[in-house]
Amino acid sequence: MTVSLATQPAHNDVGAIPSVIPNHIGGHDALAVGGRTFEKIDPATGRTICRVVRSTADDVRVAVGIAKAAQPAWAGATVVRRGEILRQIALLMRERRSAIAELVARETGKSRKDALGETDAAIEMGFFVAGEGRRFYGQTTTSAVPNKAAMVVRQPLGVAGLIIAANTPIANVAWKAFPALLCGNAAILKAAEDTPLSAWAFGVLAREAGVPDGVYTTLHGFGEEAGAPLVEHPDVAVISFTGSCEVGRWIAETAGRRLAKTCLELGGKNPLIVCDDADLQNAVTWALGSAFSNAGQRCAAGSRIIVFDAVYDRFRQMFVDAAKKLKVGTADTDDYGPVINEAQMTSMLASVERARAAGAVVLTGGHRLTGERYGNGFFVAPTIIEHVGPNDEISRTELFGPITCLYRVKDFEEAIALANDSPFGLTASIHTQNLNRAMAFIGRIQSGVASVNGGTYGSEPHLPFGGLRQSGNGWREAGTQALDVYSDLKTVYINHNPAQV
Ligand code: NAD
Repeated sequence: MTVSLATQPAHNDVGAIPSVIPNHIGGHDALAVGGRTFEKIDPATGRTICRVVRSTADDVRVAVGIAKAAQPAWAGATVVRRGEILRQIALLMRERRSAIAELVARETGKSRKDALGETDAAIEMGFFVAGEGRRFYGQTTTSAVPNKAAMVVRQPLGVAGLIIAANTPIANVAWKAFPALLCGNAAILKAAEDTPLSAWAFGVLAREAGVPDGVYTTLHGFGEEAGAPLVEHPDVAVISFTGSCEVGRWIAETAGRRLAKTCLELGGKNPLIVCDDADLQNAVTWALGSAFSNAGQRCAAGSRIIVFDAVYDRFRQMFVDAAKKLKVGTADTDDYGPVINEAQMTSMLASVERARAAGAVVLTGGHRLTGERYGNGFFVAPTIIEHVGPNDEISRTELFGPITCLYRVKDFEEAIALANDSPFGLTASIHTQNLNRAMAFIGRIQSGVASVNGGTYGSEPHLPFGGLRQSGNGWREAGTQALDVYSDLKTVYINHNPAQV
């Protein structure tokens, strides 16, 4: 099978969006083998931005074959050299940060300011991982046997399949591509269908930075058509996935059948506890950011706000008043933009309606924003709901939108029990001035990230991020821990003979 080159000239200018976003395979722009494309819709306007190639199993087969052939030479380069090339990608990204941010803003509808913040985080990830090329530590120890040296070194896995969500698109690419490549793998990224632009740009810059042909591939298309064949391909040694639990579970089962490694970074239903001694203004500020930033499209979104009875009424008033003042739109002065597509919007609003029908009270929001300012964009009003039970659907399923629920509890014990009563365990936060309470929370909260007097945030390039239970399968992204996902260990013994010195 051959790869057809895109009809447009090879596009190296990430500042101009091609009319058809091509795959990037073996150093070439490529159309899908089947020749099909799909529309990329602007979530802020509902209008088409461009078309995108629609890959299938045929494209995956071509890409894996090329990646497999290219990987040994890449693994043969020193890890310091690989780090240098990754640093070059980060430098090029820094040079073109405005253009990349523009693509992120365009494809997600978020403000340029937020898109720039995300782009800068992706660049930092590049610099952090590139530096790990000079700290690619193993372990040395002693053997029980005389004259036998023992050490542990890392080795690459082969071809890594990377599948990402659309919420923070360029950061999601960076969080996986940089460590996968540093460890000596060839990487094939299946971009999120809603955010093809920044993923395409990363591939362009990787090529320009000197990543050898075939070592880094970008495929576009839908999950079941382009993602699933990557998961099923026998030559893909590791699948690193960021997305929903439902798809994560299918990936674990499917890749598990062939005993391939899977790193799953999945959903959250993150609690933020407001104690009776909290600085309420600070708690409101962080609850707003946790629930509504990025239109609530964060795995770490604060979607369960658990408040002590003693301050519940006051906090509710302050929180609802502040939420009503949030500005929704695409400008830098707005607080958040649209959700990523119409189907997501319809589904989250339907959940709110089901909760309402079951007796929940919607304190503010609960609807799409319409009118001249919003046009046909997928804008959802900041939504705060109360009177929901811990076992209600809305308490246990992730909505991935600007929607949060309030829960009234009598004390710390009830708060921590409710916080832990969840299928998820990604991030959590507590607001208190009491050090003892904070320490008890840190000890007892069942989550991958715990924060005191802050938001349900926690994703910095040098720190591990991931969750418990249905939030993941135990691996961590970012930090040096990411290297464990993309490499395997080799225990080495060297017998030597002092008599022959
Ligand atoms: P999704 O699972 O629908 O899609 C994610 C990606 O998987 C997309 O690229 C999609 O094309 C692909 N996909 C879908 N079906 C597939 C299949 N059968 N085989 C292979 N790939 C397939 O998720 P979404 O709704 O786009 O993203 C939101 C989810 O991502 C939320 O649950 C959110 O919490 C999660 N998320 C988690 C983290 C984390 O680090 N834990 C970070 C960001 C987002």
